[in-house]
Amino acid sequence: MRRRRLFPQLFVSYLLVTLIPLLAVTLYGSGALRDFYYQRTADALKDRARLLTTQMTGLLDSGLLDSGRMEQVDVVCKELGRLSSSKTRITVVLPSGVVVGDSKGTIDDMGNHKGRAEIADALAGRVRPLVHTSPTLKQKMMYVAVPLTRSGETIGVLRTSVAVTDIDRALSAIRWKTLLAGAVVAAAAVGLGLWTSRRISQPLVQLKRGAERFAQGDLSQKLSVGDSEEIASLAETLNRMAAELDRRIRTAVGERNQRQAILSSMVEGVLAVDSEQYLIGVNQAAARLLGVDAEAVDGRRLQEVVRNARLEQLVTQVLTDNEPAEDELILKEGAEQRLLRANATILHDVGPGHASGPRAGALVVLHDVTRLRKLERIRSDFVANVSHELKTPITSIKGFVETLLDGAMHQPEDTERFLRIVAAQSDRLNEIIEDLLTLSRLEQDTQRAGISLQRGRIRDVLEAAVGVCELKASEKNVAVKLTCDAELRAEINAAMLEQAVVNLISNAVKYSPEGAAVLLEATADLSELVIRVRDHGCGIGLEHLPRLFERFYRVDKARSRKLGGTGLGLAIVKHIAQAHGGSATVESTPDEGSVFSLHLPW
Ligand code: ADP
Repeated sequence: MRRRRLFPQLFVSYLLVTLIPLLAVTLYGSGALRDFYYQRTADALKDRARLLTTQMTGLLDSGLLDSGRMEQVDVVCKELGRLSSSKTRITVVLPSGVVVGDSKGTIDDMGNHKGRAEIADALAGRVRPLVHTSPTLKQKMMYVAVPLTRSGETIGVLRTSVAVTDIDRALSAIRWKTLLAGAVVAAAAVGLGLWTSRRISQPLVQLKRGAERFAQGDLSQKLSVGDSEEIASLAETLNRMAAELDRRIRTAVGERNQRQAILSSMVEGVLAVDSEQYLIGVNQAAARLLGVDAEAVDGRRLQEVVRNARLEQLVTQVLTDNEPAEDELILKEGAEQRLLRANATILHDVGPGHASGPRAGALVVLHDVTRLRKLERIRSDFVANVSHELKTPITSIKGFVETLLDGAMHQPEDTERFLRIVAAQSDRLNEIIEDLLTLSRLEQDTQRAGISLQRGRIRDVLEAAVGVCELKASEKNVAVKLTCDAELRAEINAAMLEQAVVNLISNAVKYSPEGAAVLLEATADLSELVIRVRDHGCGIGLEHLPRLFERFYRVDKARSRKLGGTGLGLAIVKHIAQAHGGSATVESTPDEGSVFSLHLPW
């Protein structure tokens, strides 16, 4: 329905209520006035006629009627007409219809009046006012004719008349005055109507504006109460409502912020969908894990935002079975894979008194288990690797000891050869166990209180490491060249750092061809100290580099074993670097050589 404004409605109604009666009264009044005025005029004409009857009867003596008297009648008529302030026309007509006197016309020009209705009425003894156009004066007149009798005989008719235009002129003057008064009253009514309508509608308009402000969320400005009882109580009620609304909104916003803060601080990803699988909330962690924008996903379908069939299945399953479910999701991030553990449950609305209400959708909690799974794999690989590494020398030792026991010990040359092998395998066992112990110690130290660091000269450490490797290097005719500023100092654990550098130099010697050179250098810039070991050996393929520092990871197992490697050297290097708060890196090109670097904080 089309809505109309209150002010014009009030104003128009007010105007109609005022003007319609005014108009009706004016119209009715002017009609009544006209009738009254006509009646009064007719009565006056009748009275005047009657007043003149005696005089005219005296003049009209039918027996004595001669032309002299006739003239006399006409003169009297004209004299009376002149004296009349109301411009009354007086006519005297004989029963034959001949006009013998007229105050306005020339009687000789006037025709026989016997046929005139008022004359005929009077001759018949009826006196009634009549209005018609005078053929003599050519204007509309009101006539009243009375018979002139003498001894019961009608000797003539006396007619009085006035021009209707005179009556109308008088009436119209009155009407104009009435109209003027009406216009003044109407103008006053318009003014009063405007004032009253505005007085009623203005507070309502203000209330409307205030309520609109409330609707837009501005609850701070109160509505002015006004002086009308009903509007004041409405404004007060609205003000109370706004205050209550403000309080509730503040509480709700506070609670929502708290919840938001909790959800955003969570490491686990949380996402909620409604029963139709439209997203109703995603926390920062979930957005990060799923690679979506947390702000832009609300209200969109889960399938649209996250293209993961298993997540979709999980949510559908929970919504269908109404029971919690879990699954593992694999998300591809470029070349990397991320593994998420997803636990999904039914999401219930909060019912009265914080009881759980009807089902609202599903809630999924995502844990990033990529690192955990990787650690688990590394651990199980480690156990398998340790077992395997230990099993090889033990099998060999066991084999040779059994061979000896089976009789070989009675042949001295075999005995010595076999015992040397057993001794070598025991050394290898020892080396593996030594390396494992070193690693485990390093891990424990780093985890507990950290290793003890002291300011020391880097060159001293590097020289000591070169000294340790000298024998092996000279066996392969490899020259180890050292470049290091003598004054370079840092917070280090000298023994550990020496071990790390020894591992790197011995690898460089191991994997370099005879007579090659190995460069050892230490440099420092503003942020870090870097110790580099550069060789021109066999190099390492790009695909091996990411896992090179893992325990027991070897590019070529057979070759490493043959060269006496345990596969733990680089793992020890990495741990030592980390224990110093730094890291270990490698750059390598197959067949050209490798550069292993220790980055230590400066
Ligand atoms: P290993 O005792 O087998 O040398 P490491 O942990 O020290 O074990 O090294 C792991 C693997 O990295 C080695 O098996 C080898 O394949 C590769 N490697 C290490 N250093 C070098 C190097 N300087 N040049 C080429 N390959 C190397």
